Amino acid sequence: MKRFTCDELAEQLTAYLEDALDQPSRDGIRAHLACCEGCGRYLEQFRATIKVLGDQPPEKLSAPVRDRLMSAFRDRRPR
Ligand SMILES: [Zn+2]
Repeated sequence: MKRFTCDELAEQLTAYLEDALDQPSRDGIRAHLACCEGCGRYLEQFRATIKVLGDQPPEKLSAPVRDRLMSAFRDRRPR
């Protein structure tokens, strides 16, 4: 199982939601989400944003939306 830092997780999250990651990466992200409250909230917000946009695949998100999600993630980090 891979280990992810919060930054690495943020970078891999779209691939995770697209099911584009290999099993060790998926397990690592799940393990991180299970014990990191900030990233768990980030994932929820990410999913909610995608839903609002009409269930578009994450790779179709526009750059501004991605930027907003990334800065939302940074704001939610505990430190
Ligand atoms: Zn985290």
